Amino acid sequence: MHIVESIAELRQIRKSYASSVGLVTTMGYLHDGHLSLVNYSRDENDTVIATIFVNPTQFGEGEDFDSYPRDSERDLALLRDAGVDCVFMPSPKIMYPPNFQTKVTIKQVTQGREGGQREGHFVGVATVVAKLFNITQPTIAYFGQKDAQQAVVIRQLIRDLNFPLKMAVCPTQREADGLAMSSRNVYLSAEERQSATVLYRALQATGQAYDSGERNPNTLRAIAQQTVHREPLAYLDYVSLADTESFQEVKSTIENPVLLSLAAKVGKPRLLDNCLLPLSLNNRQDLSRLLGVD
Ligand code: AMP
Repeated sequence: MHIVESIAELRQIRKSYASSVGLVTTMGYLHDGHLSLVNYSRDENDTVIATIFVNPTQFGEGEDFDSYPRDSERDLALLRDAGVDCVFMPSPKIMYPPNFQTKVTIKQVTQGREGGQREGHFVGVATVVAKLFNITQPTIAYFGQKDAQQAVVIRQLIRDLNFPLKMAVCPTQREADGLAMSSRNVYLSAEERQSATVLYRALQATGQAYDSGERNPNTLRAIAQQTVHREPLAYLDYVSLADTESFQEVKSTIENPVLLSLAAKVGKPRLLDNCLLPLSLNNRQDLSRLLGVD
């Protein structure tokens, strides 16, 4: 496995890769969610490139950039075991040299939800992902359903800037009790960790109502809200029920698949979760068809 810090060296190695190259971008501190993306990429491609970069520009003032968990030695061992061919792990100085000036701004799909709560977050994400696409030149890039709005933003980036690649969206990996895996789960105290399953419970309760025939978006949002409100340690940020193509909130009777997403603070950490409705669509193929680029 090549471990590369410099862009010139990465480009040199990339030249030797033929046909299909899968890319998995991460901020490190890897868990089974990240590794599931690597496994899909390993199964579906000749070559796998992974990146580890805690991108400073997607963290806002007062967010956890400095304290974001890091353990590159463990990460590299996991990626090696998973059969990754090349890991690109640049320093911030390599990605943002002095006199760096370009920002990628995406208008509509960055509004609201995570975009509403974290100003500038998606400008940072779109800019770094555009750079990583240009540096690594994948034929297919793998992203997690866990960050569904990010997937929709990157879908827009790929379409608008004509990146010559496909994008797969892979199902959220969960702990045994349903909590979505996240590098930030380490911030949860034992008590908060128990309450944190409320996001998954809210998705399930809403999904079951949908699968039983409920199509009124306000009724479905209310089911998710009430489930979170009943959990004393959880503070709901938002419940969103959005069209998978426009990413606008659904206002009238639901006719097409929709994305239900939630964010809630459980103690200090802010947690995210989401699912497609109907629940049967939360698999690699349907997620990629509805949220990715074929
Ligand atoms: P991050 O390191 O948080 O930037 O995540 C890197 C990639 O892993 C992103 O595409 C995430 O959506 C994806 N990811 C994070 N958590 C999970 C999870 N629990 N299941 C599947 N993919 C995930």
